[in-house]
Amino acid sequence: MKIESINPRTGKSIETFEEIKTDELSEIIIKSKKAQKSWARLPSEERIKVILKLSEIIDREKEQIAEIVFEEAGFLRTETLGEITGDILIGIESHIMDYNAVKELDFSNETFESKVQFMPQGVIGHIGIWNYPVWQTFITAIPALLVGNAIIYKLSEFTTMTGLKIAEMIWESGVPKDVFIPVSGGSTIGQEIVKSDVDMIVFTGGSGTGNKIIKEAGTKPLLLELSGNDAGIICEDCDLKQTIKGVIWGSFLHGGQVCTRIKRVFVERDISEKFLDGFLEQTKRLKIGEQIAPLIRAEAREKVDDQVQESIKGGAKLLLGGNKSSREGFYFEPTILLYEDSNATMYEDEIFGPVALVQIVENVDEAIKKSNDTKYGLGATIWTRDQKKAMFIAEKLDVGMVWINDSNAAIPGGVYYGGIKESGIASSQKRVMSFMKKKMIISNSKAEIRDWWYS
Ligand code: NAD
Repeated sequence: MKIESINPRTGKSIETFEEIKTDELSEIIIKSKKAQKSWARLPSEERIKVILKLSEIIDREKEQIAEIVFEEAGFLRTETLGEITGDILIGIESHIMDYNAVKELDFSNETFESKVQFMPQGVIGHIGIWNYPVWQTFITAIPALLVGNAIIYKLSEFTTMTGLKIAEMIWESGVPKDVFIPVSGGSTIGQEIVKSDVDMIVFTGGSGTGNKIIKEAGTKPLLLELSGNDAGIICEDCDLKQTIKGVIWGSFLHGGQVCTRIKRVFVERDISEKFLDGFLEQTKRLKIGEQIAPLIRAEAREKVDDQVQESIKGGAKLLLGGNKSSREGFYFEPTILLYEDSNATMYEDEIFGPVALVQIVENVDEAIKKSNDTKYGLGATIWTRDQKKAMFIAEKLDVGMVWINDSNAAIPGGVYYGGIKESGIASSQKRVMSFMKKKMIISNSKAEIRDWWYS
């Protein structure tokens, strides 16, 4: 099967790649298991040096990476550069500090001398994604390599060029080729990796695919970053100017193809008119192509189009957009749909495109209830001038991440990134910890015969 990189701004093919054969995968796994052992045996200082070198290379190459992502995934160069400088590079230091802090922990008490040692999981099967192909790759690759894992990296079939560029940078830093192996392919190769004898699966993608992986992976540790349907709660006491700008950014960045974008907006009635006026007026001014990125493929755009139509059938009023753009490429107009009736049921599934669903609510309690009324639990945003109120709301939201008066702000290195419910299986630990397994060692070093042993 051929894998094709297509420029979503033009719809034209850029390059094609051969998908690897399923029988090649077993060879790759054998090579990588062997290489992982040598990599893990290196003193940690050696791996830290390599990761610091990688940091310099990413910094040096950032403009070129942003260019490849622009061409292959259609995302604005500034957005990719922001991910790299504001997040990936800053995150490296914190991964190193976290790793240095936890190689071995002492849990001894009067009765037991016990230690917990942490060691790499082994070979990680990492199934890549096309939206945030740089960030989403590095928040796994950097901490996982740092602690001594090898990675078999299944490139997203939509962003093979970006994935191969990332592999080159990783190899240049000093990571051996068999420790980081990129494989090109689609869902079949992804399934083969999940069923294989790699030691852990890391996956970013849709919850539907995530559920299939859960069934196929057996007892392997899983780190799954899945779909979201994040709410934005707009309180009547918000700073209107900041809120309108922030909610527009949070709804439409990356052409709306962001797991943690604001997909449902709940606005308190008292401020709804002023909010909607500004939201509408400023969204109208967004420039398609310059500010609104295209959707990744024609099929993705069809899906968004269908979802908008279904929302309208379900009682939403179209305030803006609602159509495929007439320009070349896979653009969709920034779209605002309003549910005036607070009893109306909002379109339920995640819309992965530039579409904001807005509902007027009577009060904060109703906004919290509606925000939680979804199978997803990724993130949420709260817009208020009252920090105490914001914390009260945040505590009541069933999500993994909350932004107050902000949206999609950088989380350096993706530390503690992740959602709950059907938005993923994340760990409640720092990122490096997710890529290590533990061994508890309990020692009776005083040769004591325990009271509770058989006499
Ligand atoms: P997808 O689930 O279709 O595919 C993602 C990857 O999985 C691709 O590499 C694909 O080849 C592979 N794949 C597909 N089927 C597979 C299978 N059965 N077994 C193994 N691998 C398989 O992704 P998509 O729907 O195009 O991505 C968009 C979704 O990703 C959205 O729902 C978005 O919210 C979510 N997402 C989540 C996060 C997060 O951090 N939570 C980040 C980015 C995107």
